Amino acid sequence: MIDKSPKTIPLFIGGEFVQSKSSDKKEVYDPSTNEVLSYVPYATSQEIDKSIEIAKEAFKQWREVPVPERARLFFKYQKALKDQQDDIAKILAEENGKNFEDAKGDVWRGIEVVEQACHAPALIMGETVENVSRNIDTHSILQPLGVCTGITPFNFPAMIPLWMFPLSIVCGNTFILKPSEQDPHTPNKLAEIFQNCGFPKGLLSVIHGGVDTANYLLEHPTIKAVSFVGSAQGAESVYKKSSASLKRVQAFAGAKNHMVVMPDADKDQVIKSLTGSSCGAAGQRCMAISVAVFVGSSSDWIPELKESLAKLHPSSWKDKKADFGPLISPASRKRVLSLIEKGKNEGASLLLDGSQFQSKHYPKGNFVGPTLFDHVKADMSIYKEEIFGPVLLCVRVKDLDSALEFINNNPYGNGTSIFTSSGSHARKFQHEVEVGQVGVNIPIPVPLPFFSFTGWKRSFLGDLHAYGKQAIRFYTETKTIISRWPETENQGSKLNMTIKMK
Ligand code: NAD
Repeated sequence: MIDKSPKTIPLFIGGEFVQSKSSDKKEVYDPSTNEVLSYVPYATSQEIDKSIEIAKEAFKQWREVPVPERARLFFKYQKALKDQQDDIAKILAEENGKNFEDAKGDVWRGIEVVEQACHAPALIMGETVENVSRNIDTHSILQPLGVCTGITPFNFPAMIPLWMFPLSIVCGNTFILKPSEQDPHTPNKLAEIFQNCGFPKGLLSVIHGGVDTANYLLEHPTIKAVSFVGSAQGAESVYKKSSASLKRVQAFAGAKNHMVVMPDADKDQVIKSLTGSSCGAAGQRCMAISVAVFVGSSSDWIPELKESLAKLHPSSWKDKKADFGPLISPASRKRVLSLIEKGKNEGASLLLDGSQFQSKHYPKGNFVGPTLFDHVKADMSIYKEEIFGPVLLCVRVKDLDSALEFINNNPYGNGTSIFTSSGSHARKFQHEVEVGQVGVNIPIPVPLPFFSFTGWKRSFLGDLHAYGKQAIRFYTETKTIISRWPETENQGSKLNMTIKMK
């Protein structure tokens, strides 16, 4: 649990927690009550420089540590995170607001990435071809880059930092994490557990701050690679700035995810899946379903969907019956309420209005109740913007081709799904939809980390996806070595077969 006397949380530099000298601090709130939990310091440029200098020095040694030894430390880290999963989840739920089961899931999905890091010796293999020419072999090896950085969002304060630093560090890099300023206790806890596992000092630093802190890091000449996860605007800026300073960069961005409902789908499964995937974690997931595309007569199920959504109980994570928690901040709540208002004014039918919701036990929290709009059109603000709240939009189309056209015209391409009992509908959908992650009768198709997280279009800027399989390529350089070997004794006399090609 977070200590209740508000204090300034430390930075984590060179394996130690240190108080920042910065006078620039912001409050960290409990989103269920809006009580101040602590203050987060915005690190000074000297503190950032120091963390980078330490990481640069540590890299020289760390890259020489044998890969199995590096991986073995991550086995320890995986066990420690598992043992402390509930403790981390409590800290996370308190500062982020998501319910306890979701908070544990957030930690668990991060642990799965650490498990991927444990496979490093098998993943970091290069390639070899013997005899590319007579007595000449070619092989490639993967080598670490140096000091890397990661900038992470508020909505998964355990999972997303863990998408980045374990895979980067196991490849032999050192890493500076700049987590969200809105829930910084969880990343500090991840760093504390990391250090207690016996990793050498200086491999990981956690530098707190905001946009300027992130920009300072990504423009620093020592930083070799930048991983970003956050809003579309943030991703575009980070992508442009990092590539302008000629760095390797990948930026995971915002989303608008559609679920297609065919009339041949299982109705109960559709309603349950739409209810959970739209409002779970208060809709603050980049893979949340925010648009239900009803094909033909499946729209007859909308009244039952409304009933199901209306039963949801938003409350604090301390309430065991909470289906979902508050939004992260009063500003987020205000934004979501203003979008609901715009939806009404632009002509969508508001079937369920969560904007008036008041929590009996947590009246000061940033709660918004489940909200359902019908007859939504592509030119409405509620469709064009990512709402990031418990708001589901219904769109009605005549057939699967129209559903595909509607989705493919959306600029985002993070996740989508289809609910159907027809193999040919499912096959056509998965083949033709221009979205990176596709669920067939699965509402939120997030791949496990032995695959990659593969957003398309405006949902991802870069070329290799840091999470999962391709992360090893992102965090390493490939070196190709071509070697000529001396002929062995008597070899010359045996080399008399020649191939003549026309
Ligand atoms: P955000 O963009 O406001 O902040 C994310 C991080 O970037 C924070 O650490 C913040 O300090 C920093 N930041 C913000 N603007 C920046 C800028 N212009 N330059 C440099 N750094 C900047 O995002 P958020 O509100 O914390 O998170 C929610 C957003 O993240 C949603 O849009 C959601 O879809 C997206 N998200 C995407 C994925 C994905 O994999 N595609 C996963 C999770 C969240």
